[in-house]
Amino acid sequence: MDILAKHSALAARHEELLRLGVDPFAVRLDEVLSPTLAVVRGRETILLGTNNYLGLTFDPACIEAAAEAARTLGTGTTGSRIANGTYGLHRELEEAFARFLDRRSCIVFTTGYQANLGMLVGLAGPRDVILLDSDSHASIYDGCRLSGATVVRFRHNDPEDLDRRLTRLAGKGECKLIVVEGLYSMLGDVAPIDAFVEVKKRHGAWLFVDEAHSFGVFGEHGRGVAEAQGVDREVDFVAGTFSKSLGAVGGFGASDHPAFDHLRFCSRPYMFTASPSPATMASTRVALQRIAEDPGLRRRLWDNARRLHEGLSALGLVLCAPASPVVAVRLADERSAVAAWNRLLDNGLYVNLALPPGTPGGLCLLRCSVSAAHSSDQIDEACARFARVADELDLRVPA
Ligand code: PMP
Repeated sequence: MDILAKHSALAARHEELLRLGVDPFAVRLDEVLSPTLAVVRGRETILLGTNNYLGLTFDPACIEAAAEAARTLGTGTTGSRIANGTYGLHRELEEAFARFLDRRSCIVFTTGYQANLGMLVGLAGPRDVILLDSDSHASIYDGCRLSGATVVRFRHNDPEDLDRRLTRLAGKGECKLIVVEGLYSMLGDVAPIDAFVEVKKRHGAWLFVDEAHSFGVFGEHGRGVAEAQGVDREVDFVAGTFSKSLGAVGGFGASDHPAFDHLRFCSRPYMFTASPSPATMASTRVALQRIAEDPGLRRRLWDNARRLHEGLSALGLVLCAPASPVVAVRLADERSAVAAWNRLLDNGLYVNLALPPGTPGGLCLLRCSVSAAHSSDQIDEACARFARVADELDLRVPA
């Protein structure tokens, strides 16, 4: 038996996609000119699908900090912190996150994916129950599975459904951990964390929020959606990533729980992988400082988000949520989504093609993500290119 035969159905579907144009899973950015521009297939292309929400990947201070850290501390840590040592930068970055989030303690992880894995396996075990929003990111699903906890899914963004399920679970399991995200990355919709806090209190549960897409983007200080809704003190555990608004690679978890640091010696995704590189930590620390000191970054991001949302709505396209830095356009089916994605790329506009099973409700999406670094002209140009393709392919037909 061919060991890879199990993937043949998926491979056949991929072949089908290739026949419709460029491989959407292997777009090559031959040159990256800025946070918002790259050369793709020899053409200057507007990047509207990067998660580079604050445009900090090219921030001169972040670049200089990364370069200086590499020069003085080397290119990698070559091991995990428990086996191979902690650098001063690891601790300084953790303290900076704790201050930024106004939390007692913070742990950095090597990626955002590992932050969710590491937090969930550290917090929940086989005797516990995790209540999970059904639209959760793969890293949350994987962390739940690795924890060995009983997993109960509730309807996306539905505190009443969560409440019903918790009522049914009364007396079962030792601890109940509710897991939600702040801003959902596919549709760009926001969780009602304030309502989840009410439910959590009613049932004596714990609340974990992954602010991967909302950190640096929502809230007066940029702490995320829980801050924007005035309930960040009520969230027990917060996780996030360096790979979006912070413009690097890595992840963090933070909490006021006095025993939170125990995760450092009982969470395998923290213990058994190499720690973040000096360059990553140094650029992230400066990025955090930029977010703390320059609220103009967030203002520009939101101005651009609203401009794009209004521009695409005015074209008659079907959008999935109110304005946010993620603007998802819903198309009728996979064929039209792939065709539109290809034509947009031909027109020098890169967005994310999102198809089932990676999307909620089996939707076919063109997912756009906005950056503070986009100029208004770039946003208008992106809308004009959408208009051209919408006319050509008749995308305005409601899905
Ligand atoms: N959580 C969410 C909600 C995400 O969307 C992602 C990545 N897109 C992650 C966690 C993982 O982050 P990273 O890519 O930094 O590993």
